[in-house]
Amino acid sequence: AATEVNAGYTMDTQCPFCSVQCKMRITKELPIPGSRRFAYSIEGIPNAASEGRLCVKGMNAHQHATSKERLMQPLIKKNGELVPSTWEEAMSLIEERFQEGSRAFGPHSLGVYGGGSLTNESAYLLGKFARVALGTKYIDYNGRFCMSAAASAGNKTFGIDRGLTCRLADIPLARCIIMAGTNIAECQPTLMPYFNKAKENGATIIVIDPRATATAAIADMHLQLKTGTDAALANGMLKVLLEENLIDEAFIAERTNGFAELAAHLAAVELKDIAELTGVEENLIRNAARAYGAAETGIVLTARGVEQQTDGHVAVRNFLNMVIATGKIGKPGCGYGAVTGQGNGQGGREHGQKSDQLPGYRNIEDENDRAYVASVWDIHPDELPRKGVSAYEMMELVHHREIRTLLVMGSNPVVSNPNADLVEEALRNLDFLVVADMFLSETAVMADVVLPVTAYLENDGTLTNLEGRVLLRESTIEPPGETKHDWQILCDIAERLGKKKYFPFVNAEQIFNELRVASKGGLADYYGITYDRLRTSGGIYWPCTSTEEDGNQGMMFEHAFAHSDGKAIFFPVASRTPQETPNEEFPLTMTNGRVLSHYLTGVQTRRSHTLAARNVENYIEIHPKTAKRHHIIDGEWVEVTSRRGSFSVRSRFSDKIREDTLFVPMHWGGIQNVNKATSPELDPNCKMPGFKTSTVSITPLRLK
Ligand code: SF4
Repeated sequence: AATEVNAGYTMDTQCPFCSVQCKMRITKELPIPGSRRFAYSIEGIPNAASEGRLCVKGMNAHQHATSKERLMQPLIKKNGELVPSTWEEAMSLIEERFQEGSRAFGPHSLGVYGGGSLTNESAYLLGKFARVALGTKYIDYNGRFCMSAAASAGNKTFGIDRGLTCRLADIPLARCIIMAGTNIAECQPTLMPYFNKAKENGATIIVIDPRATATAAIADMHLQLKTGTDAALANGMLKVLLEENLIDEAFIAERTNGFAELAAHLAAVELKDIAELTGVEENLIRNAARAYGAAETGIVLTARGVEQQTDGHVAVRNFLNMVIATGKIGKPGCGYGAVTGQGNGQGGREHGQKSDQLPGYRNIEDENDRAYVASVWDIHPDELPRKGVSAYEMMELVHHREIRTLLVMGSNPVVSNPNADLVEEALRNLDFLVVADMFLSETAVMADVVLPVTAYLENDGTLTNLEGRVLLRESTIEPPGETKHDWQILCDIAERLGKKKYFPFVNAEQIFNELRVASKGGLADYYGITYDRLRTSGGIYWPCTSTEEDGNQGMMFEHAFAHSDGKAIFFPVASRTPQETPNEEFPLTMTNGRVLSHYLTGVQTRRSHTLAARNVENYIEIHPKTAKRHHIIDGEWVEVTSRRGSFSVRSRFSDKIREDTLFVPMHWGGIQNVNKATSPELDPNCKMPGFKTSTVSITPLRLK
């Protein structure tokens, strides 16, 4: 609730910048005497996830929302320039061009591209909008680059995908924690005390990462593997677990299928081969496996380092093999977690933004699921489009002019997609591009129409944190200028297209109530969760099938997995080198990721003066010995080139990175955009691009 204090206010809200969703109180103070500027103060409020902590992003999360760069009215491109317009003019143009495009080239020439930071309500409505208002099968979202490998792996192994299978409160109870490809200290910093507490309780912390990150600083063992060899490393650890009988035979017999095939596969694995392939010493692999296998309790976490590879799906499955081989799941201090990155990375993927899913994780190709959702939406199942394609594949269809009209909401695809030059060229060739955003992002500047949206401080909605806990965020601030909520924009366009009866919503709660029904009976069942219940609780975990239930309290798989026979499934995984391997022309492997002070493509955090000041420009982290071989001086500008394209950034020496690896943050566009060089090769299982394993050359700009 917000309390107006003269011209200021005090309001409880949630930080928008990551999946922890830390709760905070923001106070807009009285104007500074003698000026028209307001001061803001932010303090953390204890909630179930963050316990009152905020990181630097949360402490400054008011700055972008109150920035003078916020878009306050619609813009329309005229003579190549975006100029202010009215909503009436902008919506009339959208109506005309969407109808024209659909008439001329069919409904599937229209596409919708969403984001994992949208509230559950907006994400749900975007999926419905694409399929019901536009009648297109082409919808996907930036979460494809975030969670798709872990989600598909969880679905195959456990029969369901939820970020954490246990509670954050289980972390201190774990006696061994494996953190693979996750830099929680920079990406979800307020979670670190959970791990420090685990250490105090005697846990062994194992970090698997090509870089000695801030997270690795607390590790008892750091397995600094070659980029892209996570699946092989897990094979090595599994080999030791089986060899030394550090497995839970009773659990395997009662609760899993496929162990014999895994054991047969591992019989042929040689630890020395794994050591050579991964670059991690045999002894270290053995000791890490022993620590995890022998520990009474244990938790395995993976994130984008493991997942953003062309075999990210199987890499995650191999870590899940370790979890179920040791029976460390479904009990206190045990579990697996895919550490979500985006603010609503969990909820954003549950309710229909993905090309292959309907609300509640329903399958868009399953006839029963289609019939159920069609009945909720009051349409005939035959009217419901079939499965579309993944986010990057949509960009390829744009490039081939199959998709000619695109609506982008809550995303900046020209920076976040791999092979960014091709994506930019594709978007420039669209017949009509509409972008709904708070700022003139790199994608918005290319648009024909830009629609100004409200910020997290100004809108209501639910978000699902990395634990699978649904949290309600409410506002009492009036939207500034002429901004509108994302869901309002979708309702307005739908009305223009003659579909108002399907989009009658006047507030977020009404949308949530429809979402509850649409998800009822699905894997991600929200039916029992209501705004009233959320207002009086610290959040409710899904699945929650009845308003009389408390939800599952966060612990999954205590008695059964979600496959029809209740069992988890082992899957043998080959030990492979990454698809792109270094050669003479491109001798180094480049990986990308986040820094503490920025979020996603930086559209918001680069507009926060405090956060921007901490990292004013992009850089490339390079080992000093590698730099010497490539004649690079610390701090100078270099050009990085791959088979796709080139970008330029400043060098930053670090002996915390492998000599064969380079690291570049992902928060900048234009010439500093790392994705000009990243690989668009897709994992066949989940369509995740191979962001983490692109091979490149590096040259000082002064020698060009
Ligand atoms: Fe919390 Fe994440 Fe925001 Fe930091 S960025 S304050 S960890 S929600």
